[in-house]
Amino acid sequence: ARAKSSLNHIAFYDPLHNSVMQRLLDVEQRLRVAVEQSLLQVFLQPKVCLINSTIVGYEALLRWNDPVLGLVSPAEFIKVAESMGLAILVDRYVIKTVLENISRCLEVKAKILPIAINITSSHFDDPSLVDYIFDLSERMSVPLDLIDLEVTEGVLLDMGEQVQNNLKKLRERGIKVYLDDFGTGYSSLSYIKKLTVDAIKIDKSFIDELNEETGRQLVSAIVAIANAVKLEVIAEGIENKEQAEILLKLGCHLGQGYLYAKPEFIETVLF
Ligand code: C2E
Ligand code: MG
Ligand code: MG
Ligand code: MG
Repeated sequence: ARAKSSLNHIAFYDPLHNSVMQRLLDVEQRLRVAVEQSLLQVFLQPKVCLINSTIVGYEALLRWNDPVLGLVSPAEFIKVAESMGLAILVDRYVIKTVLENISRCLEVKAKILPIAINITSSHFDDPSLVDYIFDLSERMSVPLDLIDLEVTEGVLLDMGEQVQNNLKKLRERGIKVYLDDFGTGYSSLSYIKKLTVDAIKIDKSFIDELNEETGRQLVSAIVAIANAVKLEVIAEGIENKEQAEILLKLGCHLGQGYLYAKPEFIETVLF
């Protein structure tokens, strides 16, 4: 006696689908509030030289601790932001926060290391990206060589003129561009020649497999590709000394990971 004929649709009720939909709706609704009320926080994780562990720069990573939803991972909410058309707003929030902090920091410190900002793929295809960064840096008197950007391979998939233009303008002014999560997208040897970025970041999934022969061979191949096209190479997600030692032997001299430091609130790191 589960479904009366008038309630036939009940047969299609799918609790899993329902909870996934509900979560999406909740995250969408709260994300709007979070962006409006500046509830997102920027954290920084160091990039280090693997030879002597000295810090060479930082990566900005967003943190969202929502009063209703609790901690929401950027891997989840950045996707939602993209689907809501909020990606540019979120990226700009990070850019602005980072520049404001650098600007304040320059008042008290002579030397500051560059900070890399993650940019969503759709935003990298937008003509306003470059002007937004250039204008803000001028208004805040922040030298552009203190800012780097990270983009995933997705942006290069159909590398149109706009992406090429943006890349050119940014790099001319001293903004380094990192290709993030390298090896997880659609990297192909045909586009790697056309890459006009400065560095590639080897995805954590490869670093996780450095204890296996195949894993080491893959990373070795990635380093060889990077060398062939004269790109810097940096490893992400290094969690133990063994991984760092193997990376050094394979010719990768830069890295990030919990072995060195977890991301921390930007003001704690800089001040
Ligand atoms: P990503 O840019 O590849 O960032 C690396 C991720 O690995 C970060 O996760 C970082 O906290 C984490 N990580 C670093 N070292 C280790 C380690 O040793 N072990 C482990 N297990 N994890 C490590 P997070 O902060 O959760 O960010 C996930 C992704 O969300 C980022 O991947 C990036 O694609 C995106 N994201 C984060 N912040 C932003 C942002 O401000 N803007 C945009 N557009 N995307 C962002
Ligand atoms: Mg990144
Ligand atoms: Mg990455
Ligand atoms: Mg990654």
